[in-house]
Amino acid sequence: MKLTTRITQVHPSLTLTISAKAKAMKAEGLDVCSFSAGEPDFDTPEHIKAAAKAALDTGKTKYGPAAGEPRLREAIAKKLGEENGLGYEAENIIVTNGGKHSLFNLMLALIEAGDEVIIPAPYWLSYPEMVKLAGGTPVIVTTSPAADYKITPEQLRSAITPQTKLFILNSPSNPTGMVYTPAEIQALAEVVVEEDILVVSDEIYEKILYDGAQHLSIGAVGAEIFEHTIISNGFAKAFSMTGWRIGYLAGPLELIKAATIIQGHSTSNICTFAQYGAIAALEGGLDCVEQMLQAFTQRREVMYERLQAIPGLSCPKPDGAFYLFIDIRKTGLTSLDFCNSLLESQQVAAIPGIAFGNDSCIRLSYATDLATIEKGMERIDKFVRNIL
Ligand code: GLU
Repeated sequence: MKLTTRITQVHPSLTLTISAKAKAMKAEGLDVCSFSAGEPDFDTPEHIKAAAKAALDTGKTKYGPAAGEPRLREAIAKKLGEENGLGYEAENIIVTNGGKHSLFNLMLALIEAGDEVIIPAPYWLSYPEMVKLAGGTPVIVTTSPAADYKITPEQLRSAITPQTKLFILNSPSNPTGMVYTPAEIQALAEVVVEEDILVVSDEIYEKILYDGAQHLSIGAVGAEIFEHTIISNGFAKAFSMTGWRIGYLAGPLELIKAATIIQGHSTSNICTFAQYGAIAALEGGLDCVEQMLQAFTQRREVMYERLQAIPGLSCPKPDGAFYLFIDIRKTGLTSLDFCNSLLESQQVAAIPGIAFGNDSCIRLSYATDLATIEKGMERIDKFVRNIL
């Protein structure tokens, strides 16, 4: 079969492949410690599930508007105003099939052959692939551990060409866990405005912050940058709703209308009764998010502390999200060999850094219980000591 050139240029999602493999090994009865997918292990909070069940029982089982239920779009606009200082109306929001799909819609609406998209590396693995699927060119800017894996304003400016259309910013970052300070965000905003490009801010981890780290949405820096900003977010990480597949894109009306046309010809609306769960998530307060954050905080301490005791491995302490991005260079292995052999010999699943554009590192997710973290870190310790 002759497939398109488009699909032959794209790699499968390693986060999904490795997580599925770890889950299948567990189902076979193997004692696997999975640090692979960034998927909170908590159940979705009760009030959110109850709202979706009630929606099912009251007939919210039909097609809805392609851009989302009006009440949900309003609730998202209110949240963005109150929590993030972003002045959007409901019409500036489209509800999508998860955060990933919001970005995919964006790429299809905005990017075509000849357009360049600036992506700081390490990056979340789907960004470059989505740009390629849309026909555009990803421009990867490598950041350094010394700069906490953050792109500097100088690096951003020098990557910009007349073909640059979009810059992808992700803070808190997957896979590094780094959070840009408000001053760093402001400095990047200046470059975006001066160079007249667009920025999409992927804020899916905005609620998962540690040690007083602050999240500033780049669009809230000022009126000018607001016009250059698109926001991508979703319910998966903050409310433990990964399987619900509800995300959203917020931005200029023209863009949201374009994304709605794409959605109207592809997915139509997101599962109607699930959207009622999302409304309950936004209207039900942030206590449940706070509780999960407390657990993540403790898990981060434990995993980071255990890591410090393993010879040859190092990583910056994350200020957000739920990942450690660990330098494995001293083991002499590529990230893929490290992860394959760790899974094979110790039944510990991790994601090779090469998937995120950095072969010197691996990513561990600590969105899992403490007992698994303790056991898995002990196994990694054994694994590394055997190599060194
Ligand atoms: N975003 C999560 C991760 O990086 C879930 C898997 C995926 O969608 O890539 O692990």
